[in-house]
Amino acid sequence: MARFEVPDGSTVQAYRFALDPTPVQARALASHAGAARFAHNHMLTLVKAVMDQRAAERSYGIAEEELTPALGWSLPALRKVWNQRKTFCAPWWPENSKEAYNTGLDSLARGLDAWSRSRHGLRSGKAVGFGRFKTARARRSVRFTTGTIRVEPDRHHVTLPRVGTIRTHESTRKLARRIEAGTARILSATVNQDSSGRWYCSFQTLVTAKTRPAHAPRSSQRIVGVDVGVRADGLLVVATPDGCEVARVPAPRSLSAAQRRLRMLQRRAARQHGPYDPVAQTKRRPSKRWRATQARIGKTHAHAAAVRRDVLHKATTSLAQQHQVVVVETLNVAGMRAKGGVRKRGLNRALADAAVAEVRRLLEYKSRWYGSELVAADRFYPSSKTCSGCGRRKPNLTLADRVFECDGCGVRIDRDLNAAINLARLGEPADAGEQGPAGSGPVAGRGATRETDPAKAGDAAGDEASTPHHHQVDQTGTASPQGEAA
Ligand SMILES: [Zn+2]
Repeated sequence: MARFEVPDGSTVQAYRFALDPTPVQARALASHAGAARFAHNHMLTLVKAVMDQRAAERSYGIAEEELTPALGWSLPALRKVWNQRKTFCAPWWPENSKEAYNTGLDSLARGLDAWSRSRHGLRSGKAVGFGRFKTARARRSVRFTTGTIRVEPDRHHVTLPRVGTIRTHESTRKLARRIEAGTARILSATVNQDSSGRWYCSFQTLVTAKTRPAHAPRSSQRIVGVDVGVRADGLLVVATPDGCEVARVPAPRSLSAAQRRLRMLQRRAARQHGPYDPVAQTKRRPSKRWRATQARIGKTHAHAAAVRRDVLHKATTSLAQQHQVVVVETLNVAGMRAKGGVRKRGLNRALADAAVAEVRRLLEYKSRWYGSELVAADRFYPSSKTCSGCGRRKPNLTLADRVFECDGCGVRIDRDLNAAINLARLGEPADAGEQGPAGSGPVAGRGATRETDPAKAGDAAGDEASTPHHHQVDQTGTASPQGEAA
């Protein structure tokens, strides 16, 4: 598929809204997602069969030009073959929009292309395996690119081809206002279902570039460092290089409550008749109650994620709007894997790592929108283990130590504040730090990379999301509408 060209001065942004479909509509959405899966799996089987057939014929010494003709992998080629076959293999095809089958064929074409390029060394990153069948448990998703795709003027309904007008769970005003003002245009809509069973509609839109709103003046604190944690009293701690605490974003009460509820439900599930029999050491059929608990766990996770996303969106918007330079830490991803991942390192640590990555991702594009600069600390920079008073390191600091006590200068300071101050100093101009006396403070300007250049502000593709999914445009995601502060 040809890549979509984003015009100058525009940004691709996604707006995501939770849906409240009627039972009939929910069945139609599930049917469309199932149709996408069917088309994907059916054509994958065919591609595989043709490849195997050709390999077998070659092994019998059949000449190359007499082999069974190869099947094209491009989306148009797959679509052509699908259209020839659908009447026989899927006589029910008229029940769903053709976009449903196209979704499945598109994902197959992309998967096969990635596999082929990866095999021939044309693709960077991890090796990509051959296409896999989508199981019934795969995430249900369908994308509409043509036909009637619209946000209704009442701001509580969206209209999609074939499925019709669906009520939204939340107001669509953030997007509706932009469409009415002529500053946004819908490119496509993706409908998918999360682990808790809720359906969402994400609109990929082309919006005119954002600028810093006039009502958000720059703060006098030009440079700030941001420490990201998971503790209830400080999800984010923001400080200046001279040691002033600018902001402390606590976890909302509903987030702590959701986390408590999760722990309670996990303990309950452990007591119930689960899918694994510890005595016989075999799989077994889980009880209905166990399944009900799993459903509640899924819902609670989704709720906690939504609350967290909302807090991080609001905090990062104000950081990018108010300060000239924002410094964040970088995760050592390879080191995290070496330490055993979630199982060994605990849920809290995993959540904190996810939050660090999310904050950086949000700040990356918001700093471009609002013309500020994002600096990422080197991933080995010991922001929490360095004394912000004298620069001495404390290698034996553990996660449980909430207060940083320096053995050198005797300073006692909140652990997160100490880390935020150290990070902020990385944002100071490099010459200022290197001229200071040795050991007078953490190395300013060293071990950091400038992530965004304010000079290039406005040319970035926006991305307000946490849900990874496939689009025709490269840099898009889904929006948490409440994260948009305009
Ligand atoms: Zn010290």
